[in-house]
Amino acid sequence: MNIKDELLNGNNTFAKEIENNEELKNASLSLYKDGQHPYALIITCSDSRVVPELLFDKWLGELFVIRTAGNVINEGELATIEYAIAHLHIKYIVVLGHTSCGAIHAAIHKEKGQYLDPILSRIQLAIKDECDEYKASEINAKEQVKYIKDKFPQYDGEVVSMIYDIKTNKVI
Ligand SMILES: [Zn+2]
Repeated sequence: MNIKDELLNGNNTFAKEIENNEELKNASLSLYKDGQHPYALIITCSDSRVVPELLFDKWLGELFVIRTAGNVINEGELATIEYAIAHLHIKYIVVLGHTSCGAIHAAIHKEKGQYLDPILSRIQLAIKDECDEYKASEINAKEQVKYIKDKFPQYDGEVVSMIYDIKTNKVI
């Protein structure tokens, strides 16, 4: 498989689908003209199986998304959250953890890497001795919610945690 062609062919299909559908075309054009007005910020894992737009059945312009291993929020993510709050006026933030998370697994098993520490140590600090991966995902997502609330005490929107189950495709 030529990966570049695979990606560009996919984009071609996507662009054509919009071009050939009047409703989608108009919606896409208004996103271009009027700018984006997403109503929710989703902070989730980079896991290829956890794609917010697909699993919440949403379209372009609806969700503002941050994806980072283990849905851990560090400095860079705070800047993006600040933008979402201050400039996009988003009033609903979800930290979406998931089952079978590699970052949670790595944190539980105290794995090491060249650049992993800022993420794994944050998860370890949150989950302490929890060895159950599902419970650890929940604890970690809740901890990230708390972190957002601590960093943006003036924020008047909602910040919640949810878990996506990779096996059932359901958000709990
Ligand atoms: Zn993950």
